[in-house]
Amino acid sequence: MAGMKKRRTKSSKKRKRRLAAARSAHQEAAYVCDSCGEEIIVPIDLSGGAHQDYVEDCPVCCHPMRLRVDIDPDGEAHLAGEHE
Ligand SMILES: [Zn+2]
Repeated sequence: MAGMKKRRTKSSKKRKRRLAAARSAHQEAAYVCDSCGEEIIVPIDLSGGAHQDYVEDCPVCCHPMRLRVDIDPDGEAHLAGEHE
């Protein structure tokens, strides 16, 4: 076999740091359940709008909580929970 070229295998370092975490589409926010006093962390879908209002059962005591989400113009989510 003629014309075989030797390939140089570059041992390049594949270490890319991901600094884009601040711009992810999802955030987490926490509320304190009125019923059991536990701090519940829920994922916030930032694409759902700047103001979100929904009811979710507490994963600890199953008490329904009304959650209100407000998202700042700079993308920070604020969560308030109150009894249904
Ligand atoms: Zn609870």
